[in-house]
Amino acid sequence: MNQTTLKPIPERSEHQVSQLVARQKDYFNQQHTKSIAFRITQLQRLKHGIKQYEQKIIQALHQDLHKSEFEAYTTEIGILYEEINFTLKHLKKWARPKRVKTSLTHIGSKGKVIPEPYGTVLIIAPWNYPFQLALSPLVGAIAAGNTAIVKPSELTPHISHIMTELLSELYPETYIAVIEGGVQTSQHLLSQDVDYIFFTGSVGVGKLVMEAASRRLTPVTLELGGKSPCIVHEDADIELAAKRIVFGKFTNAGQTCIAPDYLFVHHTIKDRLIAAMKDVLHTFYGEHPLQHPDYGKIVNERHFNRLAAYVKDGAPILGGEMDRSTLKMEPTLLDQVTWDQPVMQEEIFGPVFPVLTYERIEDVVTAVNARPKPLALYLFTTSSAVEETITDRISFGGGCINDTLMHIATPHLPFGGVGESGIGSYHGESSFETFSHYKSMLRQTNKFDFSFRYPSAKHGLKII
Ligand code: NAD
Repeated sequence: MNQTTLKPIPERSEHQVSQLVARQKDYFNQQHTKSIAFRITQLQRLKHGIKQYEQKIIQALHQDLHKSEFEAYTTEIGILYEEINFTLKHLKKWARPKRVKTSLTHIGSKGKVIPEPYGTVLIIAPWNYPFQLALSPLVGAIAAGNTAIVKPSELTPHISHIMTELLSELYPETYIAVIEGGVQTSQHLLSQDVDYIFFTGSVGVGKLVMEAASRRLTPVTLELGGKSPCIVHEDADIELAAKRIVFGKFTNAGQTCIAPDYLFVHHTIKDRLIAAMKDVLHTFYGEHPLQHPDYGKIVNERHFNRLAAYVKDGAPILGGEMDRSTLKMEPTLLDQVTWDQPVMQEEIFGPVFPVLTYERIEDVVTAVNARPKPLALYLFTTSSAVEETITDRISFGGGCINDTLMHIATPHLPFGGVGESGIGSYHGESSFETFSHYKSMLRQTNKFDFSFRYPSAKHGLKII
């Protein structure tokens, strides 16, 4: 299969998507999806199905984004197996109703919280990790007992085609369906009476999603983006920091929502850090990254042009070369940038890495807090006081001390943004919680009744 063999994906009509939602709601109402045994079987099928499709998935990711087999496996497939395995291991416990205490005023009664599926959920996914970011929320939706419609990005057609093939082979579309299409299809889906919307994408579209959800008061999770700082303090282990920063920034050619967006380095170690990063880049991607088979491409020409313009906002210390015919752009470190330039105003989402310096950690706190709350923050330091200052005084979605990206790759940590970088979180138990409504129930005793709670009644306890 190659790029030219795929026909353009037609947009779906409003009627088509409303029919699908109605059929999924009907399926849900028949109670098929609720038993834990059913959910476990479907998750096992998903894992098995992905295993069968591994080579096709890897090939499609290469066609859409030039991902290497190693990167496709670690960042898109392996991470999903881990999510599914973790969910299978804990699902029975998560799904169990939880007994809770009642207060003295409620003596005789029992309280419990019962997780229940919302019903039919809509998952809208972006293009940068197109497989994982569509299917990881789906794991949570299945685990919680919902039916689901997945709308992948139109910018990565090979992988969305494979997802359609895989999921339609595994499930009836009344239970799980993939709807390929672009903005129009997405808008038609957003106007439907679904029970939950899980959106991953840009801040701008996130606002439109929330607006659409508000019309029906549909609950939403918004997994958005932003400018994630990478702070390197003077006491950091420079060699290790260089390796982990280069990994985090240039994996998938920088098209990662939690990639370090800009480098904020203590002025005394800037030159040493840059020298160490150059060595690492050389080891990872050789002398000519544009030709290296493990180095990714920019998703399309529009994004290529956007990134090429950023390079003009500063002076490249390293990289800066690009090849329009292959949509590849070298890892580029950019010096002499200021906060008011587009490269420091917008989320970069590509292999351009501005380098800023600071003298006092206080200045970092002030600068980051003056901007929207980031999705991720990375700090390289060996000082617990610096660590405390940054984690206590800056609000951000999540992050790492002395590493990059790795907080996303464990189902033990909820993942999500805050403020402009998102609403809600998922992964592991947090995914189950996201796709569940927690119904609070009180079972009252009939053995006695307190008359003092009623108006104009005599005080006291009545034994029935
Ligand atoms: P995007 O917002 O352009 O598109 C995301 C999805 O929304 C796609 O499926 C697209 O078809 C649909 N869409 C686009 N415009 C729409 C509209 N007007 N109405 C309704 N639907 C619309 O995002 P993208 O370019 O695919 O992805 C990049 C962005 O996603 C970056 O900002 C990145 O930080 C963010 N992101 C966030 C996470 C996270 O987990 N927080 C993960 C990956 C990407």
